Amino acid sequence: MTQYHAGRHFLQIPGPTNVPDRVLRAIDNPTIDHRGPTFGRLGMEILTNLRAVFQTKGPVIIYPASGTGAWEAALANTLSPGDAVLMCRTGWFATLWNEMALRLDLKPIFIDTDWRRGADVAAIGVALADDKAHRIKAVCVVHNETSTGCTSRIDDVRRAMDAAHHPALLMVDTISSLASIDYRHDEWGVDVTVAGSQKGLMLPPGLSFNAISDKALKATETAGLHRSYWDWRPMLEANKTGYFPYTPGTNLLFGLNEAVTMLLEEGLPNVFARHDRHAEATRRAVRTWGLEVQCADPRHYSSSLTAVRVPEGHSADALRAVILDKYNMSLGNGLGILKDRVFRIGHLGDFGDLQLIGTLGGVEMGLRAAGVPHKPGGAQAAIDYLAGNA
Ligand SMILES: *Cc1c(COP(=O)(O)O)cnc(C)c1O
Repeated sequence: MTQYHAGRHFLQIPGPTNVPDRVLRAIDNPTIDHRGPTFGRLGMEILTNLRAVFQTKGPVIIYPASGTGAWEAALANTLSPGDAVLMCRTGWFATLWNEMALRLDLKPIFIDTDWRRGADVAAIGVALADDKAHRIKAVCVVHNETSTGCTSRIDDVRRAMDAAHHPALLMVDTISSLASIDYRHDEWGVDVTVAGSQKGLMLPPGLSFNAISDKALKATETAGLHRSYWDWRPMLEANKTGYFPYTPGTNLLFGLNEAVTMLLEEGLPNVFARHDRHAEATRRAVRTWGLEVQCADPRHYSSSLTAVRVPEGHSADALRAVILDKYNMSLGNGLGILKDRVFRIGHLGDFGDLQLIGTLGGVEMGLRAAGVPHKPGGAQAAIDYLAGNA
């Protein structure tokens, strides 16, 4: 028998995130003719306004697919079978992207980390400097590794590529950072930015994105990987007038338009500052509990989620089960080598101070209920920080 829970469920996994009512109301409209005039106006508006969120002046493609589809699109539109790609294995999501590259007959070169920090920029620089023949066609980095709560420094990656005078494309997965953590497609010289709808963009799952540089667009002319559904060219052609080459996710696009409006109303710098502040409050709570944050390098702390290590001999999954059962809150699980070793607190998307205090209160009560050794006062430490930093 499932227990009845009064009150709202707390969806504090690091994506999908809580969808704001304004976005839900926008999605809850009759589906329209995706070849009619109303749609064309909507399409133009979204395709234009979305650029600001990626901090780009170039085109952003929207796929009716999860983020994984946009990963494939980034590779398939720009590369050829046998191309070497430099990939940073910073955690579980980076590993999945690596495996996709292998299945697509690319030749990944891996740079590993201990899953407690972002991409190793020095190692990227060395690998590129060694590649005198320019066999490496792309450098692929996950901006915010959602399995570890570590954010890679894309500005530093760009500098390393420039210092090596290497012509490889730069591809960045921002699925759990876009619209939560400062990210600059144009300024950082990124060629393909991959994003998804269900995290910082505050939408349900089902849309994903590629922001594209001129250099990436040029690469499509010689790219030899097979592509059909993911092909940028028919998409860009149809997008010129606000339409799509196949049926778009019409109602999700209503929601996307509202979500982008909300982000621009708040102002992107304010959105990023809000996420930074909630992340800092969360880390203070974790430290007060006497627990450890998975990210070991403060320069790589994630502002969209915090992965928390449980003490040896304790189960993160058992703790999450207790919290779900007693307090009706979902937290993220440990993935790959972190299975059962960490739980992940998502603090991204449509999220305010009181939701954070509720979340941390739920974790603290859960630690007690599950018998995980800790010191009390974490939620109080977060209150003290938030109240002192309004
Ligand atoms: C969620 C996530 C993905 C996977 O996206 P799907 O929408 O599940 O296909 C990939 N990369 C990162 C960094 C993510 O956070």
